[in-house]
Amino acid sequence: KKITIAIDGFSSTGKSTVAKQLAKALGYVYVDSGAMYRAVALYAMQNGIISKDHFDIEKLISDLDSLRINFKYNEDVGFAEMYLNGKNVENEIRTLEVSQWVSQVAEISEVRRMLVLQQQKMGKEKGVVMDGRDIGTVVFPDAELKFFMTASAETRAKRRYKELLDRNENVSYEDVLKNVESRDLIDSTREDSPLMKAKDAIEIENSNLSLKAQFKKLYDLAQE
Ligand code: C5P
Repeated sequence: KKITIAIDGFSSTGKSTVAKQLAKALGYVYVDSGAMYRAVALYAMQNGIISKDHFDIEKLISDLDSLRINFKYNEDVGFAEMYLNGKNVENEIRTLEVSQWVSQVAEISEVRRMLVLQQQKMGKEKGVVMDGRDIGTVVFPDAELKFFMTASAETRAKRRYKELLDRNENVSYEDVLKNVESRDLIDSTREDSPLMKAKDAIEIENSNLSLKAQFKKLYDLAQE
């Protein structure tokens, strides 16, 4: 019987890597909810709503209805990529610049309301692995299996730094660490559905856990 699997946790805990593998092994659909918040942030940055030190929240809210944010499966890479108004933005949403604004965008209640509804629609049929910050608490409080991933900020920043270097981004470790810490803070203190562990979520501290070991743990629990 197919179930819903929610994977939440702090930034760069490796949620998406293990979620993707798990979905593949189970024949489930994988949804990266963070990509949707990133797409909204990218839209704001590309349309003058966010500039160096100015964020026109009202304008973003009034534009929300016209945004088309959706995933399209790419057979070559084996997962669904993010599209913003018909354009593939899978790479653009992963830059440090987007990471530096996304949590402020995700604090806006109107943004959350819109994306949560869309996420719930995508999960209507069972057989979904979704990762994010509020999946087990708000999006799918009834999910049959919930995980909450944690790791030290340094471990996470190191992982993210390596990822960004692999993408040829010119960033410093210090800036990445600062970003991870500032997103943690905004995500866990915002008024509207802050990041927290669902009561019935299984916590996994993965600083010293290999991807393989992590996958096995999740996979075995999903089989039960
Ligand atoms: O998962 P990822 O790090 O790509 O998410 C980017 C940001 O989007 C998070 O730091 C958080 O501010 C926001 N987010 C959220 N709720 C989710 C997923 C992501 O607020 N379910």
